[in-house]
Parts: sequence; C-alpha cells; structure tokens
Amino acid sequence: MTARILEGRPIARAIEADVKVRAEEWARRGVVPGLALVLVRPTNPSRAYGRMILKAGERCGVRVRVLEMEEPLEKKKAFELIRRLNGDPSVHGIIVKRPLPPPLGDEALLQTLDPAKDVDGAHFGNLGKLMVRGAGAGHVPCTPAGVLEILRRSGVMLRGKHAVVLGRSVTVGKPLAALLMQKDPWADATVTLCHSSTQNIEEHTRRADLVVAAVGVPGFVTAAMVRPGAVVVDVGTNAVPDPSNPRGYRLAGDVDFHSVKEVASAITPVPGGVGPVTTAMLMKNLVEGITP
Ligand code: NAP
Repeated sequence: MTARILEGRPIARAIEADVKVRAEEWARRGVVPGLALVLVRPTNPSRAYGRMILKAGERCGVRVRVLEMEEPLEKKKAFELIRRLNGDPSVHGIIVKRPLPPPLGDEALLQTLDPAKDVDGAHFGNLGKLMVRGAGAGHVPCTPAGVLEILRRSGVMLRGKHAVVLGRSVTVGKPLAALLMQKDPWADATVTLCHSSTQNIEEHTRRADLVVAAVGVPGFVTAAMVRPGAVVVDVGTNAVPDPSNPRGYRLAGDVDFHSVKEVASAITPVPGGVGPVTTAMLMKNLVEGITP
C-alpha cells in the first residue's frame, strides 16, 4: 500500500482564500484586520517565522506587524508591550513567539494577553473553553486546529476511531487530544496520549487508526509502529544538519515518511503538511475573532 499524501499547501491556500474574503468584507467597513507578532528574543529562526507570517498576511489582506524586543530583555517592557497591544484598536490579534526566554517563562506573559486577541489560544481562558465547551467557544491553538482541518478537508472521519497523540505539550499534544475527543462530527475519537514516560509506545500506535506525532524527534515513528491502513499526521518540524543543503540543514518530521507511507493509508509530508495549515489557521482565527 502506498499512502495518499495529505498535502497541506492546497488546504492552506483554500483557507486563506476564505480568510481574504472575510478580510475584504471588514476592509469595506473600514476595518483592516491587524495582527501583531511579538518576537521577545529575535533570532534567525524567529525572524524567518515572522517573514512567513508577513507573507501569509499579504495573501489574506491582513496587516501584520512584527515587533522585536530589544536586548537585553526587560521583563517590564515585555508586559508593557502586550498591554499596549491589548488596548490598540488596530490590533485584532496578538501572537507571542514561543518558546519564551527564561526571565519570562512561558506562562506569565501569555496570560497578560486579552483572550479575545489571543489568536493562538495560549491564554488559560481559551484553553479552558476548549476543555469545557470544545472548539468554537474561544480561540483554539493553531497547530492542533490545523491538524483537525487537514483531516476534515481530507474526508478522514474519526468518530469512534482510536487516535494516538504522541507528545503532551500545551501548544500541540494536549489541546489536540481535547479537540480529537470532543463530541463533534469531525472528531469524537477515543484518544490515547503518549509522552516520554509511556512504556511500549509502539503497542499503542499499532492499535491506532490515527497517529499524530508531535515529539520533536526526527523519524521517531517508523513503519513497524503503524498499523497498515492507519492515517498518520506529522507535526514535527526538526532542523537536521545537512551539509549538502545550502542552509546547512534540512527540515525533518517526527515520522520516517518513506517507510511509513508504505503502510499508512494517508500521511502528511514535512515540509508542506501541517506547517502551512497552521499559519492559515492563525489568519482564520484572526478574522473570525474580529468584533464590530
Ligand atoms: P515539546 O514542547 O518539546 O513537547 C514534546 C513532547 O514530546 C513532550 O510531551 C515529550 O514528553 C514528548 N517526547 C519527547 N521525546 C519523546 C520520546 N522519545 N518518546 C515519547 N514522547 C516524547 O514540543 P512541541 O512544541 O509540542 O513540538 C513537537 C514538534 O512539533 C517539534 O518538532 C516542533 O518543531 C513541531 N511543531 C510544529 C508546528 C507546526 O506548525 N508544524 C507547531 C508546533 C510544533 P514529556 O512531556 O514527557 O517531556
């Protein structure tokens, strides 16, 4: 069996086309959708992320501002910046690039965000709504939302199926497990969540109808871990040293794509799978969150 490749880019472009229509509607009413991306510690990868978001904004009719904090980082200034953006009516969404450096930690600054502008669903208010009420009640973290969107648009029905999520981060694994288990026509799965203390992970994955890998370990999921016919979604985005690449590295997923595609019925590639859909979901969260 050779798997159907679930390409993320066409799905992302379709989402972005819908976002553009919504953004143009707002523009006709005098509101240009605005997104602020805060780079608390600007690095080459976070700047590259910023350029990617800027380009997506151009495609969607969303005005993106990338705000870099100055070194040395002053905690007080970071909080002041978030409060200023919370109060800025031209800013409808704020995303703070994670991970955050140690003086801030991941939580405190993110909890300063206005939950209505927290378009990556990092605020406890949004995470709580996801747990209690499911998707649609607040902003849902973009990567897990993107995984569900890929599955939905690819016609993968999950009701009553066994989904195994690898990784329990607050940005991917935990909210994804919550999304997959919610009582929704496109979810409603039985979910197993594995992490670094899980014993015999392959015993779980081999029983899964859906495996989602978000561990940050290149090639972690091998063909032997996948039940023939299962659907495999690879969230992993890992920079692997590669002297033959002009950048000196290549991007690798958490799934050994070449072997797993021979046993799975469908699989997302890396790059070009979950990544572009995550960005599109960010734009979608933004325009859907604007209130008159
Ligand atoms: P993270 O915060 O480092 O969490 C990794 C999780 O995987 C943890 O729960 C960890 O377990 C678990 N884990 C690590 N090694 C393991 C092992 N050998 N066996 C079982 N579980 C293991 O990572 P993340 O932020 O969730 O990101 C995961 C991957 O997704 C990374 O490659 C990241 O770059 C990528 N990512 C991609 C997107 C996208 O848009 N495509 C977005 C976000 C992240 P413990 O909790 O026990 O430590």
